[in-house]
Amino acid sequence: METVAPLKEIIDVIKESGGEGFKLCYQCGLCDTVCPWNKVRTFSMRKIVRQATFGLTEIESEDMWLCTTCGNCPRQCPRGVKIIESGVSLRRIATEYGVFPTPVLPVRGVSSSLLGEGNPLSEERKKRADWAEGLSVKPFAEEMEILYFPGCYLSYDPRLKKVARATASILNRAGIDFGILGSKENCCGESIRKTGDEALFKRLARENIKTFIDHGVKKILVSSPHCYHTFKNEYPEFKVNFEVVHISQYLFELIKEGRLELSKAYEKKVTYHDPCYLGRHNGIYDEPREVLKKIHGLELIEMADSRVDSLCCGGGGGRIWMETLKGERFSDLRLEQAIAVGAEVLVTSCPYCITHFEESRIALEDSEALEIKDITEILQEVI
Ligand code: SF4
Ligand code: SF4
Repeated sequence: METVAPLKEIIDVIKESGGEGFKLCYQCGLCDTVCPWNKVRTFSMRKIVRQATFGLTEIESEDMWLCTTCGNCPRQCPRGVKIIESGVSLRRIATEYGVFPTPVLPVRGVSSSLLGEGNPLSEERKKRADWAEGLSVKPFAEEMEILYFPGCYLSYDPRLKKVARATASILNRAGIDFGILGSKENCCGESIRKTGDEALFKRLARENIKTFIDHGVKKILVSSPHCYHTFKNEYPEFKVNFEVVHISQYLFELIKEGRLELSKAYEKKVTYHDPCYLGRHNGIYDEPREVLKKIHGLELIEMADSRVDSLCCGGGGGRIWMETLKGERFSDLRLEQAIAVGAEVLVTSCPYCITHFEESRIALEDSEALEIKDITEILQEVI
C-alpha cells in the first residue's frame, strides 16, 4: 500500500481543512449503510475515515473521489463527524500533489476551462448569453428587481439551455424586471471546490462577488441548487450576504402572490426528485411540490426515497465531471423508481440531475417511457 509520507502531513492538512472531526468517528459503519454507492458497488466511507485518522490515506486510490457529497451520511452519523468536509480535505491533498486516478482525469480539463473561460464546459466566455437570443432579456442594471444567474450548464448545454429559456419566458410573462450578467458571469465554483481545488474556487467566488458588488446586485435568482448552496452558504465566508432565491421558491412566491397565472392543464402523472443540494443541504422540499400541486390535471406521485431520503443522481461533489461505470449510475436506479410508481414525467430542478437522468433515459429499453423535465419546463406549458 502506497501512502504519502510523512504521514503527519496528511493529518495536519486534514486538520487545517476542517477534517479534524474524523477523530470523533467510532467506526459504527452507519455511513456505509446509507451511502448510495452501496446500492451499486462496495464502498466504505468508514474505512476512508479510519485510514485518514491514522494518516494512512492512499491518495492515488479512486475511493476518495467517489463521494458525491449527497449529505445522506453526515445527517445520520451519531458522532457528528464532518464527513463531507473531511473527505474534501483529502481531495485537496491529492489536488496539491496532482495525483488523479484515471476516472478523475477530466477534472484537469475542467479546471483549465474554469480558469480561462469561467465555465467547466470548454465554451467561450463571450457566448455565455447566447441562450437568451430573441427573448428580450436585458443586461442587469442596479434598479432591477432581481439578477437571474442561470449558471454554466443552463448557459451552454443544449438540453439545459431550454430550461434557461423557459425560465426567462416565465419571468417575462410574470412581468418581472430582471437582467443577466452574460459574459461577466463566472461559474459559482461550488463543484470545483468539492474536488479539492480551493484556490480556483476562491478565485471564481471573488470575481463573482466583485461583479455583483460593482453592478449593485442585492437579490439573485438561481436555477441550480449548487449555485444556491454556494451563494447562500459559502460566499458569506467572504463577508458578503446576497439574498438568494431558487427558482422553485420564486415560482411558488409568484403563484401565491397572483403574479403568475396557470391557465392550462397538464394531464400527466408526475413524480418529483429532490436534488441533494436543494433538499438535504438546504431544506427546500415543499415549494417545488406546492407549485406542481397548483397545476390543473397534474397528478403528483411520490417515489421511494423521497424528500430527506432522496436518492442522489450521482452528480454532486464534482462527480458530474468524472467517469462513472455503466451499472454504477445512481440515476439508472432513480429512473427505475420513477417508472415503478407509474410516473410519466420525472421532474426536478437541478442541471446535474437532468443531465444524469437524460443519459439514463436514453439507455432505457424504451426511452420514450419517461420524460425528464425541469419544473420551469412544465410551468412554461401551463401559463
Ligand atoms: S457514521 Fe460517523 S461514527 Fe459511524 S463510521 Fe461513519 S463517520 Fe464514523
Ligand atoms: S455524503 Fe453521500 S455519497 Fe458521500 S459518503 Fe456520505 S452517503 Fe456516501
